[in-house]
Amino acid sequence: SEFVSLRDVKKIYHMGEIDIAAANGITFDIRKGEFAVVVGPSGAGKTTVLNILGGMDTATSGEVWIDGQDITKYKGKELTAYRRDDIGFVFQFYNLIPNLTALENVELALQICRDPLDAREVMEHVGLGERLDNFPAQLSGGEQQRVAIARALAKNPKLLLCDEPTGALDYNTGKAILKLLQDTCRQRGMTVILITHNSAIAPMADRIIRIKNGRAESIETNPHPVPVE
Ligand code: ADP
Ligand code: ADP
Repeated sequence: SEFVSLRDVKKIYHMGEIDIAAANGITFDIRKGEFAVVVGPSGAGKTTVLNILGGMDTATSGEVWIDGQDITKYKGKELTAYRRDDIGFVFQFYNLIPNLTALENVELALQICRDPLDAREVMEHVGLGERLDNFPAQLSGGEQQRVAIARALAKNPKLLLCDEPTGALDYNTGKAILKLLQDTCRQRGMTVILITHNSAIAPMADRIIRIKNGRAESIETNPHPVPVE
């Protein structure tokens, strides 16, 4: 069944006389537990879509269904709770707090959320069970991204949204992060949506949504996603 469903989503920016359609009627569905990649060139509308999914930006029109709720109807406290409890975010730059250890970075995020997991267990899952007491500056870029993924997963979100998560990493480190995200879908049933300009990542996904000029040009289900090794 559809877990994420965008219906004719538009986001129009008014720049004086000119209207810019960052999203110009985007429709797609994603099933629970899928690894979905939204791919397209710079300026295509990927960040706009991700921000709307995450409740960080509002659509001009259209519907955004997440687990049976149209989040475009959320306001105020409901919207805050949605962002806090239902969505895990992973960014290109890890946004860790430098004077907290890896474990403390994860634990901090859990203090305010509804249904957190055990921070140590999640640090084991991302392969950092031995690095709990290290500060971010003592960790490699790939390890810092693992902490950021642990921080997002430990909230036990419905949906993990990733914005160019390998964009700041070298090829092999990026590959290991993609493997972790793919494994997180397979092992934990997490639904992951990853946006990227890098079309080489698409074959690893269960669903590939190609965005261009604010439209979904094509939506493919991929029966044989390439396992990242
Ligand atoms: P992508 O993430 O694919 O690079 P974006 O979603 O960031 O694309 O942007 C899509 C389009 O919307 C671009 O043409 C961009 O310039 C425009 N855009 C994004 N944010 C704004 C804004 N705040 N004001 C005006 N135009 C914007
Ligand atoms: P760009 O610099 O345009 O973003 P790169 O080729 O440097 O593209 O790749 C960026 C990231 O994408 C790499 O760090 C890597 O993790 C991932 N990646 C790209 N192609 C592959 C591939 N064929 N297999 C696994 N990972 C890939």
